[in-house]
Amino acid sequence: AKSRGRNNCQFFADEFEILTSHRLRIRNNLKSALEKNEFNLLYQPKIALHSNMIIGVEALIRWRRPSGEVVSPAEFIPAAEENGLIIDIGNWVTEEACKQLQRWGRENHHNFSVAINISPFHFQHADILSTITQALRRYSVRPELLEIELTESALMEDIEHTIEILAELRKLGISCSVDDFGAGYSSLNYLKRLPVDTLKIDKMFIDDITKSQRDLALVDTMINLAHHLDMLVVAEGVETEETVHLLKEKRCDLAQGYYFSRPVSGKVISEMLTTRLQ
Ligand code: C2E
Ligand code: CA
Ligand code: CA
Ligand code: CA
Repeated sequence: AKSRGRNNCQFFADEFEILTSHRLRIRNNLKSALEKNEFNLLYQPKIALHSNMIIGVEALIRWRRPSGEVVSPAEFIPAAEENGLIIDIGNWVTEEACKQLQRWGRENHHNFSVAINISPFHFQHADILSTITQALRRYSVRPELLEIELTESALMEDIEHTIEILAELRKLGISCSVDDFGAGYSSLNYLKRLPVDTLKIDKMFIDDITKSQRDLALVDTMINLAHHLDMLVVAEGVETEETVHLLKEKRCDLAQGYYFSRPVSGKVISEMLTTRLQ
């Protein structure tokens, strides 16, 4: 039994090594990826359900390795949070989003917003306000066109600090969304206190509303809750027409998902804006 125990340990040690070396590889490569410009942003339209218009987009980062392999943000964002590079990445995303907003402005796509995802680590530990104001100024972007998506964990870590920053952002005209609402350890108490403008209902709640009365009841309740708090609601991960139909019926404001569009390049968004929905 003793030797079997050892073997088991050995097995886990090897597994562990493989896992960590994969993560280590990613972690070590992130810095050079930034320097070599291997990141890019894709944009996923946000649709106003009452008008069917694209009112903005969410920026989603991609990492294309020289080998052609595309690494998912789900894989490298946690690694970047561990080694602190998330702040450089977040600053790059902010800069790139503002650059793209300037481009769209020049193509006469005005009143059109870009939401960026900011990691809890970045939000709590860096001077996010100065990064944002500098990027807005550099590309002559109106602050109203930039939005920030923050997960519940980002908002709840140090609530006094969070309230301060959110209030500053709001003063600047920048709106904030609670991302993945309902997926984390949400507390209704923080919603009461935080100056946020939008709730994004997590995909896991949206997926089965056409099949499950319980899920539909939950989504309906979240929509009403947001509206009572004067907030807008976005449904994430909308994939079918029936889902859209139900969300409209429940008076959800906005929706995002493969049903409308996958995340696409800035250029494709321009084409959509000139030809399709607007
Ligand atoms: P998220 O912020 O919840 O973004 C939504 C994710 O759902 C995106 O995955 C998007 O491509 C995907 N999605 C959208 N519509 C659908 C749909 O109809 N069906 C399905 N199955 N998926 C859909 P993505 O781009 O892989 O990003 C994953 C996560 O990585 C994001 O989740 C976000 O937490 C993080 N992330 C992405 N870009 C950034 C970034 O620039 N900075 C930071 N800090 N995090 C980012
Ligand atoms: Ca998001
Ligand atoms: Ca989300
Ligand atoms: Ca999500």
